[in-house]
Amino acid sequence: MKNIVIFGAPGSGKGTQSDLLIRKYGLGHISTGDVLRNEIKNETELGKTAKAYIDKGQLIPDELMVNILASVYDSFGKEHEGVIFDGFPRTIPQAEALKKMLDERGHKIAAMIELDVPENELMVRLVKRGKESGRSDDNEETIKKRLDVYHNQTAPLIEWYKNENIHHHINGLGALDRIFGDICTVIDNL
Ligand code: AMP
Repeated sequence: MKNIVIFGAPGSGKGTQSDLLIRKYGLGHISTGDVLRNEIKNETELGKTAKAYIDKGQLIPDELMVNILASVYDSFGKEHEGVIFDGFPRTIPQAEALKKMLDERGHKIAAMIELDVPENELMVRLVKRGKESGRSDDNEETIKKRLDVYHNQTAPLIEWYKNENIHHHINGLGALDRIFGDICTVIDNL
C-alpha cells in the first residue's frame, strides 16, 4: 500500500500530477478541495459552511476537515493499493491527525512529495485557471490570500515531514512529463 501526500502551494500542479498518478499506479485520490466544491454544488450544510471560508481564501477549520477526511479514506475499504492525499494536510494539526487516523488502521504515509514552484509562476497559473475554469477563488485578491495562508500555515509542514523522514522535493517548474517522471522515480523507489 502506497499512501502518498502530494504537497505544494495552490497552483503547484497537485491535481494535474494526481490525475497522471492515478492512471499509472491505480491509486485512490482524495482531493479535499474537490470534496468541498462538491458539497457546495449539492448545497449541503457542509457546503454552506465551506463556501464562506473558501470565498475568503481561508482554510476550513481542522476538526471539520479531519472528520471529512477519515470518512472519505474509509470509503476505499481496508485493503487498497494506496491513496493520494491532494490538498490535505494543510496544517500541522491536520498532519498529526492524518498520522493518527492511519495509525489506528495499521496504515501509514509512504511519501510526502513537495512540488516546488516559484511564487510568480503560481500567480500566473492560477489567474489563467480562473479564466478557464471559472473557479470562484481563482481571482487575484483571493489567490493572494491563499498564498499567504500557504506560507503561514501550510509550508511549515515541509519541516514536519522532513522530521518524519518521508519528504521528497520535486522541481515543479518545467515540462509536465519531466515533473511526472521525477515523481514516478520517487514512488518506484518506495
Ligand atoms: P484546493 O482545491 O485544494 O486549492 O482547495 C480550495 C479551498 O478549499 C482552500 O482554499 C480551502 O479554503 C479549502 N480546503 C481544501 N482543503 C483543505 C484543507 N485540507 N484544510 C482546510 N481547508 C481546505
